[in-house]
Amino acid sequence: MSFTLHGIPVSRGIAIGRAYLIAPAALDVDHYLIEPAQIESEVERFRAAQQRVHEELDALRADLAADAPSEMGAFINVHSMILNDAMLVQETIDLIRTRRYNVEWALTEQLERLSRHFDDIEDEYLRERKADIEQVVERVLKALAGASGALADGVHGACDEMIVVAHDIAPADMMQFKTQTFQGFVTDLGGRTSHTAIVARSLGIPAAVGVQHASALIRQDDLIIVDGDHGIVIVDPAPIVLEEYSYRQSEKALEQRKLQRLKFSPTQTLCGTRIELCANIELPEDARAALDAGATGVGLFRTEFLFMNHKDRMPEEEEQFEAYRRAVELMNGLPVTIRTIDVGADKPLDSMSGGDGYETAPNPALGLRAIRWSLSEPQMFLTQLRAILRASAFGSVKILVPMLAHAQEIDQTLDLIREAKRQLDDAGIAYNPNVQVGAMIEIPAAAIALPLFLKRLDFLSIGTNDLIQYTLAIDRADNSVAHLYDPLHPAVLHLIAFTLREAKRAGVPVSVCGEMAGDPALTRLLLGMGLTEFSMHPSQLLEVKQEVLRSHLKTLEKPVADVLASFEPEEVQAALKRVAQA
Ligand code: PEP
Ligand code: MG
Repeated sequence: MSFTLHGIPVSRGIAIGRAYLIAPAALDVDHYLIEPAQIESEVERFRAAQQRVHEELDALRADLAADAPSEMGAFINVHSMILNDAMLVQETIDLIRTRRYNVEWALTEQLERLSRHFDDIEDEYLRERKADIEQVVERVLKALAGASGALADGVHGACDEMIVVAHDIAPADMMQFKTQTFQGFVTDLGGRTSHTAIVARSLGIPAAVGVQHASALIRQDDLIIVDGDHGIVIVDPAPIVLEEYSYRQSEKALEQRKLQRLKFSPTQTLCGTRIELCANIELPEDARAALDAGATGVGLFRTEFLFMNHKDRMPEEEEQFEAYRRAVELMNGLPVTIRTIDVGADKPLDSMSGGDGYETAPNPALGLRAIRWSLSEPQMFLTQLRAILRASAFGSVKILVPMLAHAQEIDQTLDLIREAKRQLDDAGIAYNPNVQVGAMIEIPAAAIALPLFLKRLDFLSIGTNDLIQYTLAIDRADNSVAHLYDPLHPAVLHLIAFTLREAKRAGVPVSVCGEMAGDPALTRLLLGMGLTEFSMHPSQLLEVKQEVLRSHLKTLEKPVADVLASFEPEEVQAALKRVAQA
């Protein structure tokens, strides 16, 4: 039966494919397709892990104290039986053979299927046996991780007809999808600028988040359409609907091909003002996509993604340096703005869950996040600063600091940068001594107290995602308040316009690197406010460029002034219409 679900559009375009449901537990393992030639060795890997768990269970049984409760032995026996059960073993092997899933994926997929059967069972005792199966699967997964040293990485082949459907996907898990070619994403939770949505957008594939109950209503392998422009998900579409969307999909592909022609033209307005379009990246390799789209630099390198998926430790200085250098070298002389780690809120680190109380922070978005965390971990921060400074010897590097609000935070940060330079001098290691340091303007206090920043820093970058979150007190990742997350709220627009105007007056370069910079519907408004440097995901760059090429700054002046002069929604909307038509 066909039905439609509505959510929040976060990444444009249309995807048509089969639903691939991901259970939260399944996200802890890698998902990739193996080559046909690897099937037998993958099955062998499974068998070896199965054997290892058998040995573990035998050892447990042998070690049972004579006076141990009899249930203990029975419990181990049940686990041994499950470990041999064809429903688990044979079906998992079938998934490896027929679908070419890696063994971890096959195993968690089969666990999901079995769990659904168990959920339907009336008998409570039997229903609870589901937990035993989960425990056995977990043991096998651990054995697999131990056997191979780590869960296998790398992706083989493509699964290009699948659309991921999940309750939620953490940003760190989203990174796993960077190397895979899923066609779309649908999640129950999330907001437009949640980091999950941002990564989806960076992949340039259609996505809808906040599609409530999607993961419960959509079944594995259902045919679905994701309309990423409108946040609509159509499940089991009627043939005529499918035909219409296939047509729209091919039209969009055509538009995209046309946009490619803009790649090599200079970015300037009709009146000849040069506009810089830079890229936001999460991993060094993303620099290729940035260059491909014609970016004139990296305006935001979100380094925290390098720190995620490091289960037990932070990356060493050398490892960080290599990653930064790689991005710098790939950009081949173009500027690379490296932001110091911005963890916390919806981007926790595995290694943050130590004794620092982070997990129990009452409100992580207002807690020990970004620069606050870095300043509380000076050794870690110095390590990152040294790594960035070292990369500055290989190209044009700028340092960007997130979430600053207080004068003492700026001063402490600048002191630590001086200290990192001293340490490199002592060790005789090269770096650019004149590396520029800038601040993200993403807390309203920073925008309002701008002179503090203008006096101390070389450049500014407005992070509209957080600026909106903190100005409107709307958690950007919370879909229950997503309808109130409004980039066009007069308070937000005034803070942006004020920051642009004051920075310009002080001669301090300023850019916008939040998601507003990549929204072509807002390009003219930002241009009219005086913005000349945008930074966005490469997948959005050409559409924004098209808007720039069609704009004339002089004609934008009056309607943009009207937008800022009004506080009434209808008047703002009317003025915005005039901006679009100017
Ligand atoms: C922002 O807040 O606008 C920004 C660019 O940073 P992030 O999205 O990583 O918080
Ligand atoms: Mg931010």
